[in-house]
Amino acid sequence: MEKLIFTHAIPRNHIFVDWDMSSICNYDCYYCNEEIHDNKVKFPDIQIAKNVVDKINLEYKDKDYAYFNLLGGEPTAWKHLDEFSYYVKKDNNKNVLQLLTNGTRSLQWWKKHAEYIDKIIVSVHVAQCNIEELVNKFNTIVNEIDVDFQIAMDVKIFDKCIEYYNYAFKNLDNKITLRPKPLKVLIGGPELMPYTDQQKRIMQELSEKHGKKSRKYGSPMLQDNNPVDVVKIITNEENNWEGWACWIGIETINITRYGDVKIGAWCNPHLVLGNIKDLSFKIPMKPVICKYDTCGCWTDIHTTKIKNYVGATL
Ligand code: SF4
Ligand code: SF4
Repeated sequence: MEKLIFTHAIPRNHIFVDWDMSSICNYDCYYCNEEIHDNKVKFPDIQIAKNVVDKINLEYKDKDYAYFNLLGGEPTAWKHLDEFSYYVKKDNNKNVLQLLTNGTRSLQWWKKHAEYIDKIIVSVHVAQCNIEELVNKFNTIVNEIDVDFQIAMDVKIFDKCIEYYNYAFKNLDNKITLRPKPLKVLIGGPELMPYTDQQKRIMQELSEKHGKKSRKYGSPMLQDNNPVDVVKIITNEENNWEGWACWIGIETINITRYGDVKIGAWCNPHLVLGNIKDLSFKIPMKPVICKYDTCGCWTDIHTTKIKNYVGATL
């Protein structure tokens, strides 16, 4: 039998839906492609978004639950977020709603919307935010929403990023997870920022906070029974599984801001299954053989991969 290289601490019996919802964002990070935050692509129609939830529940009915990860540009700008969040749980209250946010909404906003949001990942864009304000705000909300902090390690202001990281490490509530996020030259692109070897080592050696969540989310991944250190894999540029069978499409699915449904976040760009305006397609449920020398994002890295797989593939 082929060797399973990565496994999950909790078997991954869920489908992870990475949904890039719009290009509406109140920030203007220089390492973010203009088209990701140009405010031109609006959020989806609420009825279409609800149809997507039904489709995912149906197509992946053998899974325990669906994990909706809303991003792009800033998902808290969606006026139908509350209605959508409620709908995600309507037919399966194990379903998870997670937001990837820059955290700028007020404490009052987070309290008002906390009921159906399970978890948020706060991307700390150091050049544009005040770390004390962010830490205070999310320490206050931590009993209502599970929170992860990721400090975006901008190479141009690396020392300030370390300063922010250390402040967060010292002052964040222990329920909150904290880790550094190495950046690409452009978000979504293949090339890592030009960190020096010393900067890479510093990132690898930063102590992380592991947090304490109200529920378990089916990660982290294990290799030889040890948690996979994703920061190390990225900074060592070891995120390469060319030739391996990859479970994107089976464990993870991606929806672009134009409504295209794809199996991976940035790889296989032409493998479009359909569009959310017409959900009549079937999801193939076969692994794909990776043909890339870099695996682009955390969601994709966290997807099961098997070397020397001999079963059917796409
Ligand atoms: S990186 Fe995120 S917060 Fe920054 S401009 Fe792009 S979408 Fe907005
Ligand atoms: S690049 Fe795509 S196919 Fe290759 S390992 Fe990553 S997610 Fe899988």
